[in-house]
This record gives sequence, structure tokens and C-alpha cells, in this order.
Amino acid sequence: MAVPKRKTSPSRRNMRRSHDRLTPNAHIECPQCGEQKRPHHVCAKCGHYGGREVVKVEA
Ligand SMILES: [Zn+2]
Repeated sequence: MAVPKRKTSPSRRNMRRSHDRLTPNAHIECPQCGEQKRPHHVCAKCGHYGGREVVKVEA
């Protein structure tokens, strides 16, 4: 079985983990109501998408 010759140094280990971070979820302002919404998704607050209401939202 292949076995590492040397223990991974903290520096190497941290370099490997430099790509492990989570990316924040993308959010944009709804042009209709100004609420934060996900791009390419219907706004959960006002139900608008592409400049028109596509889903009825309870008032
Ligand atoms: Zn909205």
C-alpha cells in the first residue's frame, strides 16, 4: 500500500484547505419590492419574475 513518506506539515495542510471555504449564497435585490431574492428565482415576497407577477402571494 502506498504510504506518505512524510507527515503533512501544517503549512501544506492549510494550503490544501485553502479551497475548502464555503461560498456565500448569491442574492440580489428584487426590482419589484427591493427584497433580497435569489437570481433567476421568483421573488418569495411579491411573486414577481421578469417584470410581472407570476405567483399569487397571500397579503
Ligand atoms: Zn419582490
